[in-house]
Amino acid sequence: MINKNDKIVLTCHVRPDGDAMGSVLGLYHLLKAIGKKEVNVVIPDSAPHTLDFLPAMKDVAVNSKYDSYCARLVNEAGLIIMCDFNAYYRQDKLGCVTQAASCDKVLIDHHLGPDIDANVIFSDPSMSSTCELVFRIIASCGYFGLVNKEAATCLLTGIITDTQNFTVNCNNPEIYEILMRLIEKGADKNYIINEAVKSVSYNALRLRCFALANKLQIFERNRCALITLSQDELSQYNYQRGDTEGLVNEPLNIPGVVYSVFMREDPNCIKVSMRSKFDFPVNLICQDHFNGGGHLMASGGEFLGSLEECRNIMLECMKDYDRYIPSGLPRLVIKS
Ligand code: 5GP
Ligand code: MN
Repeated sequence: MINKNDKIVLTCHVRPDGDAMGSVLGLYHLLKAIGKKEVNVVIPDSAPHTLDFLPAMKDVAVNSKYDSYCARLVNEAGLIIMCDFNAYYRQDKLGCVTQAASCDKVLIDHHLGPDIDANVIFSDPSMSSTCELVFRIIASCGYFGLVNKEAATCLLTGIITDTQNFTVNCNNPEIYEILMRLIEKGADKNYIINEAVKSVSYNALRLRCFALANKLQIFERNRCALITLSQDELSQYNYQRGDTEGLVNEPLNIPGVVYSVFMREDPNCIKVSMRSKFDFPVNLICQDHFNGGGHLMASGGEFLGSLEECRNIMLECMKDYDRYIPSGLPRLVIKS
């Protein structure tokens, strides 16, 4: 399909993260290196500024800003490669446009249960990241020699962000061979970790400290940590997209906490994020109550209603998931 098509669109999910942007931009640089002239990255809405360092980020077309231009690119494409999502609704309004397109389609993803029609589907939930899967596909197609520093930087970014700096989902030793190959191609691991993960603005750092110091609630019997942030609280710290990235992970560092929930009052919905340890299925909670899903231990959803309603639903349903808490954990006692 790559050989037969010149107009190629690469696309990913709404609120793109490092793995979504890394996989589409990694493929973008590879396709350019193959000699494809009309390759376009089209994304549902803008990426956080922490990803501005990714090579060619400025060439990306954003559907929430230029929807007719983006629709034209999608409609004129001969091939659409969709990365890091498993259902069209994960693309927000852009999803209707990509779904309606009748050209060749390829899906590359690591979420459970792909629900997308495509000529070829690469779906492997055992992958640390879509970027890892993209790397393997590139290598299997015999294109490894064409991977340049730009492509390597993008692909390594997704592997780093989805594994939280090689701390989750990365016990497969092959990941470290991929890491080695990408560094050999010129990717700078330390730089990527600084830019994509550690880098934080003064306001964002203060917002996180505020959230952890004043908004974190631990439900000891349910092994659950909960943080909510309202529009008012966010605006006190001049909230920008991406400022709460990673916040939901912090409470998991408390021994005995099994899962962590973060609810943020966005302009159109309450954005829910969950993370867990010990195979506790936060994807079920997101599916059952928050119109979402995701991975077993990293999931999210969107709630239409008030922040208080959203929080109350969590408080009410929490007990229903106690049965997934592994036995034999030490007692969790939070002294305040
Ligand atoms: P995050 O908490 O970083 O926003 O999302 C973590 C993971 O949860 C994502 O990689 C994605 O798999 C899943 N996820 C996040 N938001 C949604 C959502 O609204 N719907 C679904 N189905 N999955 C989501
Ligand atoms: Mn991913």
